[in-house]
Amino acid sequence: MYNTNYFLMTPGPTMVQDNVLQARTQYMGNPDIDSNFFKFYEDTCNKLATILNSKNSSNIIMCGEAMLGLESACSSLTEIGDNVLVIENGVFGKGFSDLVTLYGGNVTLYSSDWKKPINSAELDLFLSKSDLSFKYATFVHCDTPSGILNDVKEITKILKKYNILSVVDSVAAMGGVSLDIDNWEVDICLGGTQKAFSAPTGLSIITVSQKAWSTIQNRKKPIIGFYTNLSLWKNCVKEKLFPYSLPSQDILGLSVALDNILEIGLDNIFTKHNNAQAYTLEYLKKIGLKLYLEEGFSPTVTAFLTPKECTSIEIIEHLKTKYGVLIASSYGPLKDIVLRIGHMGENIQKENLLYTLESLKNTLIDLKKD
Ligand SMILES: *Cc1c(COP(=O)(O)O)cnc(C)c1O
Repeated sequence: MYNTNYFLMTPGPTMVQDNVLQARTQYMGNPDIDSNFFKFYEDTCNKLATILNSKNSSNIIMCGEAMLGLESACSSLTEIGDNVLVIENGVFGKGFSDLVTLYGGNVTLYSSDWKKPINSAELDLFLSKSDLSFKYATFVHCDTPSGILNDVKEITKILKKYNILSVVDSVAAMGGVSLDIDNWEVDICLGGTQKAFSAPTGLSIITVSQKAWSTIQNRKKPIIGFYTNLSLWKNCVKEKLFPYSLPSQDILGLSVALDNILEIGLDNIFTKHNNAQAYTLEYLKKIGLKLYLEEGFSPTVTAFLTPKECTSIEIIEHLKTKYGVLIASSYGPLKDIVLRIGHMGENIQKENLLYTLESLKNTLIDLKKD
């Protein structure tokens, strides 16, 4: 068996409430044929629209982990030779350039300091000097490998000024940080289930604005790809036809996870995330650990430097084996440099967080003795 009997304090997947796990054990029915399923799917999308304030957009739940959403946005918008601006200050931000290139887009990379949020005034200046006309721009709300939080409202505002569609990866922020898709006029926003929503991995969440739909519909050439074709999802509830069979258990679980959030109330949820972050930052500093970022700490995840005396793997393994807590290493250039605690979704429960931080402190003491 695969033993997962530990606290899952990683920045996704996160811990999942029992009622979510139970919902997933329900008999699956036939989502292609049963008309009640379409109503249930729509209701679940409407819960998302409440959480994201995205009632003016289409709210789509696709079957496939969040990377499917990122790839679908690039596949559906990009035509060969389109100019695309990839705004990056982290691993996921930069990673968008591979997806855009895969579908024939011409990437202009706008790179900014990884330890600070994107500065929208500097972006504005860059765009005012650029001769290229960009079809869309990508950026990340919370770039999880470093835990940086970018200001979606301000960046989207600048992109609008230059008539550039916005594609925002909010996988690691959505549900833990406030989003206002309608008022900020975000064109495509992407999420997953396994981060702040605290449901198991397996679904992509996508909002698509009317403007993004018209861009997709006005393509000269068809979308390359079937699984990544967003237009197949535009009218699927109305037409009672999904592009393929949906995993009803995943959506049953998500629906209960969203109820859990709505029951606590969005303002409370965001405050709790802020508190969890403040508590984590303070505790890490108190035990002598150094934070990776200079500013722009996300309320959902904190990255700290691996202390010189030991490796990231040693800390992760000791913490897991002796104390039953799993935290995360990182990716790309941050791989061996930082460790991360995910304080999002269910992970923000004070007692879990306190136990995690105390166990981390004890792990560092244990490893020093060895
Ligand atoms: C988790 C995450 C994704 C999805 O990728 P995984 O394969 O689940 O890691 C995409 N973007 C961001 C910012 C994420 O945190």
